[in-house]
Amino acid sequence: MSQGEPSIFSLIIDGQLPCHKVYEDDSVFAFLDINPCSTGHTLVVPKEQATTLDQLSDESAAAIGTVLPRISRAILEVTGATDFNVLQNNGEAAFQSVFHVHFHIIPKHEDGSGLAWPFITTQLDPEEGKTLAESIRKLLG
Ligand code: AMP
Repeated sequence: MSQGEPSIFSLIIDGQLPCHKVYEDDSVFAFLDINPCSTGHTLVVPKEQATTLDQLSDESAAAIGTVLPRISRAILEVTGATDFNVLQNNGEAAFQSVFHVHFHIIPKHEDGSGLAWPFITTQLDPEEGKTLAESIRKLLG
């Protein structure tokens, strides 16, 4: 997608590409993922075409935040799952493949389908944590 060109998700939102829609309001659109990790895997997308979450307006962020729990509840009720992950990738190195902000809602089913948790963790150094948190707080005012 080059600058100004509609993303594949914008084409879906505009009805130019098909999808299995589950939700729409003035600011948000949600549909089933075409390659689901598990039954019910849904993408929740702001109509605003921002590439990554840090570029999204407060208005769209608020609209998405408002409906994520509601859409999650509906997916859980329909699929019978009780556990789920909300995943949000930003940038190629972070596994983003469609460059239009979106949240994945991925139910975790009893058969094990859903998201695996392969992430490597480290121990937070207390001094580094103090400096880092201070720097972030300063920017957030
Ligand atoms: P991400 O890697 O976080 O950018 O995820 C992009 C997601 O979009 C993947 O899970 C794809 O399966 C999904 N996807 C791509 N094209 C379509 C489409 N036309 N309809 C539904 N889901 C799609």
